[in-house]
Amino acid sequence: MGDYVNRLMAQLVAKNPGEPEFHQAVQEVAESVELALARNPRYVDAKVFERTIEPERVVMFRVPWVDDRGDVQINRGFRVEMSSAIGPYKGGLRFHPTVYLGLLKFLAFEQVFKNALTTLPMGAGKGGADFDPKGKSEGEVMRFCQSFMTELQRHIGQFTDVPAGDIGVGGREIGYLFGQYKRIRNEFTGVLTGKGLNWGGSLIRPEATGYGAVYFAEEMLKTRDESLEDKTCLVSGAGNVAQYTVEKLLDLGAKPVTLSDSGGFIYDKDGIDREKLAYVMDLKNVRRGRIMEYAEKYPGVDWTAVDPAKHYNPLWGIPADCAFPSATQNEINAEDASNLLAGGVYVVSEGANMPTVPTGIEAFLEARILYGPGKAANAGGVAVSGLEMAQNSARRAWSRGTVDERLHAIMQAIHDTCRSTAEEYGVAGNYMHGANIAGFTKVADAMLDQGVV
Ligand code: NAP
Repeated sequence: MGDYVNRLMAQLVAKNPGEPEFHQAVQEVAESVELALARNPRYVDAKVFERTIEPERVVMFRVPWVDDRGDVQINRGFRVEMSSAIGPYKGGLRFHPTVYLGLLKFLAFEQVFKNALTTLPMGAGKGGADFDPKGKSEGEVMRFCQSFMTELQRHIGQFTDVPAGDIGVGGREIGYLFGQYKRIRNEFTGVLTGKGLNWGGSLIRPEATGYGAVYFAEEMLKTRDESLEDKTCLVSGAGNVAQYTVEKLLDLGAKPVTLSDSGGFIYDKDGIDREKLAYVMDLKNVRRGRIMEYAEKYPGVDWTAVDPAKHYNPLWGIPADCAFPSATQNEINAEDASNLLAGGVYVVSEGANMPTVPTGIEAFLEARILYGPGKAANAGGVAVSGLEMAQNSARRAWSRGTVDERLHAIMQAIHDTCRSTAEEYGVAGNYMHGANIAGFTKVADAMLDQGVV
């Protein structure tokens, strides 16, 4: 780590105590950005990176609601508006009990570079609440969303800040949030993405993050004249990103063998086929059940419950070629990373945001495997959100084929940009540096043009 990064991190940690995920995300990018600063003194003089790590605005608010028993519940809501250098703030909402300011700052920070990589005009933000939709009734989820939007609507708008979904916020929640926005503001605009198809949503938006992560893996493999055909793939999570990762892997002839949730994971040696995927989609999106039920339904499938005494996740020790972490941050620790390598994995495409700890990333880079960092590999979701905004502005809806083609082209372009930027900066093959530097320089140049704001 260079002097610049040391100084910056010391100040960041002192000023933002108790926010380890934010520190981790900034440190990773800072180590890449140091390479760009050395070549561009104008960025240093204008303190561009120092400005990028300070959110433009943070809103924190009370979300009171009444549960089915008639008891009053109080949650905490947030919106971190990180950067508007290249477009309106854009990024998802997360509803999960672990949500706090530092977590959303890390996610909003990652979003700055990811959104820049898509080539679309989107700034960066992230928000959410420490609300747990698990085990809540439909009525409770609706009342919570309505209360959350009653405050959030003051701060967002189609030209200001356009939220989307993330963990715990899917089509159902976006519907309730949109309904309440429309009711209060008396306007039908594209203020949220991930909307339903018959009220302004885009085809392929639900699929986009998972499909994109697979397209990114495919591009990385092409650099070695290989494809995903017949590759055994580990997938974690069982939500939006994981489901569509499995779907696209099947389209491309690969064999996905695992899925997980916070209770544990299933290992299906025969492969998760289309019929089994349809079962998972119904289980998770309609019945809102647990992935353990998959092992009860299909004989011969191994179920491993989470064991808090274990310092590693045995899912990542299963022999395979590719891994698609698609659950949550820091789900691959150093031991998991070395288990992945020992099990033969040589492609990691991150559907989740920051799923690998820094020592894990180091191990991947040292082993020179094809490692696609989240801010590049999972940018397909926000890219199609950008396409949803374009369709809303034009009052038009594009076909499935058109959107998928554009998504595919965007993921290919992101891959090529990361690869060529890494080469240009003397770190060929390092997609992490490539993604961080390419995202940063785009935002930094816009900030220089716009003065000290
Ligand atoms: P989701 O539909 O809510 O699914 C999340 C999945 O991950 C669930 O299976 C969940 O299990 C599991 N999970 C979440 N937190 C966990 C934890 N602390 N420990 C173990 N398992 C956990 O969310 P998603 O949209 O698929 O998002 C997954 C990841 O992709 C996140 O990192 C998100 O930031 C990232 N991402 C999403 C998008 C998007 O378009 N949705 C775009 C870019 C990146 P339980 O149900 O048991 O909690």
